[in-house]
Amino acid sequence: MGERKVAVVTGSNKGIGFGIVRALCQKFHGDVFLTSRDERRGRDAVHELEKEGLSPKFHQLDVTDKKSIYIIKNFLEKTYGGLDILVNNAGIMIPFHTKEEGNKVIETNYVSVVNISEALFPLLRPNARVVNVSSRLGNFTAFNMKDETKMKFANQNLTVKELTSLVWEYYNLFDCPNFNPKLYIGQFAYGVSKLGLNRLTSILQRNVSADQRQILINSCCPGYVDTDMSDHKGSLTVDQGADTPVYLALLPADEKSIAGKMVCERVVVKWDERNLQPNPQIKSMVPSMKSLS
Ligand code: NDP
Repeated sequence: MGERKVAVVTGSNKGIGFGIVRALCQKFHGDVFLTSRDERRGRDAVHELEKEGLSPKFHQLDVTDKKSIYIIKNFLEKTYGGLDILVNNAGIMIPFHTKEEGNKVIETNYVSVVNISEALFPLLRPNARVVNVSSRLGNFTAFNMKDETKMKFANQNLTVKELTSLVWEYYNLFDCPNFNPKLYIGQFAYGVSKLGLNRLTSILQRNVSADQRQILINSCCPGYVDTDMSDHKGSLTVDQGADTPVYLALLPADEKSIAGKMVCERVVVKWDERNLQPNPQIKSMVPSMKSLS
């Protein structure tokens, strides 16, 4: 059992997760695990970063598969004896048309983070950082809710189990009043899953704040990023999209206030605040890898 520090990034064979692994390899003093549900895609991605002179490690992880979660848990426990950074980045947004297909969005973006937290949180070492890569569409979904529903989500005493019930209940209603009815159900599911993730973040922070580990858990929106998910329409590169998740993953030991928060491109926002304005500073904070090459 070693004391070497270790970071794990889910869904990091491409897109923002890949950018997060790249930046952590450059900035974090410890081993960085690029994980992927598909071993070949993951190993190819590791190889890409090795060509840049970086040394990420690889582990398979399908976030929707509990067995896969427990395999990486056992591996981390045996090899490192703990975990220092966990970035829950894996996510899907596919224009599903049926409710059943939309369920997959909630399962991947929300339920898997509940399962991963249950499995991996006991491993978190003092000063560990957890980042849930969410979306400002979660805030937008909350902003559009009826007041009585919002009050249920706002309850400070909610347990994770109660929140999960609320997420499914709300998703099954599909009655968000100001939501564009022409939206695909999958897009609605995406907003609900990210709203759930934002609330989950605050509950998980409350739960760990009771112990002495000084763990900080935050969710964030990376901005509109040029990836497969955005059909490459996003204006930020994956390195710029990685900026906020990495900033939160490396919050210093004396940071106290950014805890259980939702952070849109380095700016703390309320979970039900309508915040669709990108932070123009992000582009200047992180030079694009493309513009460097
Ligand atoms: P991509 O589609 O480019 O990448 C998503 C990653 O998640 C891929 O590596 C994918 O793997 C992985 N993934 C999907 N399902 C699973 C699973 N079951 N187990 C493990 N990995 C899985 O998306 P982005 O990089 O754009 O998105 C990353 C995160 O950022 C998501 O949570 C997304 O919601 C969020 N986000 C993105 C925005 C954007 O503008 N792009 C804006 C706001 C939030 P595979 O290759 O196998 O499919």
